[in-house]
Amino acid sequence: MKYPLLIALALFVLVQPARAEWMERVEDGIMGTRITVELWATDKAQGNAAIEAVLAEMRRVDEAMSTYKPTSELSIVNARAAQEPIKISPELFDLLSTALDYSRITDGAFDITYASVGYMYDFRKHVHPDEKQIAAALPGINYRHVELDKKNSTVHFARAGMRIDLGGIGKGHAVDRGIAILQARGIDHALVTAGGDSRIIGDRFGQPWVVGIRHPDRKDEVIARIPLEDAALSTSGDYERYFEENGVRYHHIIDPKTGHSASKVRSATIIGPTATRTDGLSKTAFVLGPEKAIEIYNRLEDIDAVLVTPEGKVLYTKGLTPPDTADK
Ligand code: ADP
Ligand code: MG
Repeated sequence: MKYPLLIALALFVLVQPARAEWMERVEDGIMGTRITVELWATDKAQGNAAIEAVLAEMRRVDEAMSTYKPTSELSIVNARAAQEPIKISPELFDLLSTALDYSRITDGAFDITYASVGYMYDFRKHVHPDEKQIAAALPGINYRHVELDKKNSTVHFARAGMRIDLGGIGKGHAVDRGIAILQARGIDHALVTAGGDSRIIGDRFGQPWVVGIRHPDRKDEVIARIPLEDAALSTSGDYERYFEENGVRYHHIIDPKTGHSASKVRSATIIGPTATRTDGLSKTAFVLGPEKAIEIYNRLEDIDAVLVTPEGKVLYTKGLTPPDTADK
């Protein structure tokens, strides 16, 4: 009598589908930052393959768009586009067009030509340009000097001494690419993060994902928690890459008008449909200040934002209910 039961058990084990599970991978060093991929996979091998595909895509984007790699498509553009129009890939062309759109939406606060001055900063080595260097390079900052020719898929710089850098939108783009790969593989619960830029597909065990916004000075203190499903979120902070010298905080978001670090907020978190979009909008508040930035965010139907001012005040756009009123 024992055998039928054993056989039944053995059959059960054999026919049981591969177990679904929650998988997570953290990888450092791509695009100079930390990448996290979390997903719900019905099969471990498929889940692993999906994670590998996302990481490979991030490496590919990094190879094409990093200004740290002299062979990247972007470095070639920076080296030659002032002399002649340079033919670029459809992907780079589209991202440059999108970047210019964000310059227009944000009154020039977001500007990839910030790099004309920005390249002289090295936050890791505590290097910054002096006033003379800034004054000499500042005319190179102006997104209108980036000339795109759709028909020929070329980019041309209207003046010499200009540089562009996609550090303010490339991670968002890479996250969206990663999400597209997961969606194509039929994955419907996932999180992809690159540095300050994240995007979520679906929910997490039937609940929204909860993303915390940290205190600008106290790393482990959360000042707001935001429940999210099928959304993207980008946080920019003046604490990410900075150094201090003679009481001045030099950090990695640059005011295109002055060439100095932009300090009108301490952090800005943008919530929207894609990470390219939230990334492209998260620098604005630093440059324009909270009032003007909130005005712009409120005008964009699909965008919400949480800002932390230099005084430590937390400001929300109209679509978000501050936590103290939410409970009442
Ligand atoms: P993360 O690197 O974590 O995505 P952010 O989204 O805040 O951080 O982007 C900061 C980066 O944006 C800077 O390191 C720089 O490459 C770029 N950047 C700085 N100032 C500007 C600006 N005014 N417009 C567009 N990009 C900028
Ligand atoms: Mg970003």
